[in-house]
Amino acid sequence: MATPGSACIDQSAPHGRGARRAHLVVTYHYIREHNSDGVTGVTPQEFAGQIRAIQAQYRVVTVEEFAVQHVCEGGLAVITFDDALRDQAVAAAILDDLGLPGVFFAPMRPYSHEPDRWCPQHLLHALANELGWAELERRVSPHLAGVAIDANEADRLYHYEVPHKRRLKYALAFALPAAEAAAVLREVNARVGLRADDWYLTAAQLRALEDAGHALGGHGFDHVPYNTLSPKAQAADMHRAVRLMNQLFGTLPRALAYPFGRFTPVTAALARACGYIHTFTTEDRIDAKFVRDEIARRANVAADPPVGRRPAQES
Ligand SMILES: [Zn+2]
Repeated sequence: MATPGSACIDQSAPHGRGARRAHLVVTYHYIREHNSDGVTGVTPQEFAGQIRAIQAQYRVVTVEEFAVQHVCEGGLAVITFDDALRDQAVAAAILDDLGLPGVFFAPMRPYSHEPDRWCPQHLLHALANELGWAELERRVSPHLAGVAIDANEADRLYHYEVPHKRRLKYALAFALPAAEAAAVLREVNARVGLRADDWYLTAAQLRALEDAGHALGGHGFDHVPYNTLSPKAQAADMHRAVRLMNQLFGTLPRALAYPFGRFTPVTAALARACGYIHTFTTEDRIDAKFVRDEIARRANVAADPPVGRRPAQES
């Protein structure tokens, strides 16, 4: 997709004297007081501190403004949230206090009439949060016998996790077909009874975010990595998500964050056909810790870290 900005998001283009400042696109998931085995995030206090630090160095803009302005000015920031997690209400309130816009990328299964409204990936987090990782692994492992795991790829994708978590996460998100992984997790949850409604923002909360000036973005229906799906399955998932978003929120969102940041050229073509103008991936992302350190250091502006997430380039 000819996403505006894909060419210069990660470089400091020389502009007259000195270099133009790079942009920053940050991605948040969980924002809660306590981390657990299943859920790792930042506290509301840390979030507020990070946003103030970003605000001190960048001009925080909407995704629409970013698409236009990034061509002619440096140092823009877009603050994004994935997965429409209930935690994010507290982050939205912090942004509202500071008068800053955010983009909330919402998967659509939680807002559907499906009997089970969990996206498998988030059910994994919630179960690990509830049971502890070791117990979850004990319950899931019998279903994974014989599943081949690409250890290198698991290490690459989940470098921020300890090794045994990488294996299980990779097995469920990438090695097993999406429907099988979902079935395994739902079987475990049948005995635990966690409710999707407790994990995600409500549709009314998403509408209120839009009314407050934040943007909603697409994040697929089932929240599975598109690069693991056939073109037909990718199209079905994306169409379903677009239709439901349109029904629930009226307007068609223009921005799409690929679930897991993964996509293929087919995904990009489908996104374009579905009306998405801005697409985001997390491939080539910069680790959160590095971004935090850089922001804190504020040393060399021209060498700013570019992104936590970047607009997707067509390949
Ligand atoms: Zn996500």
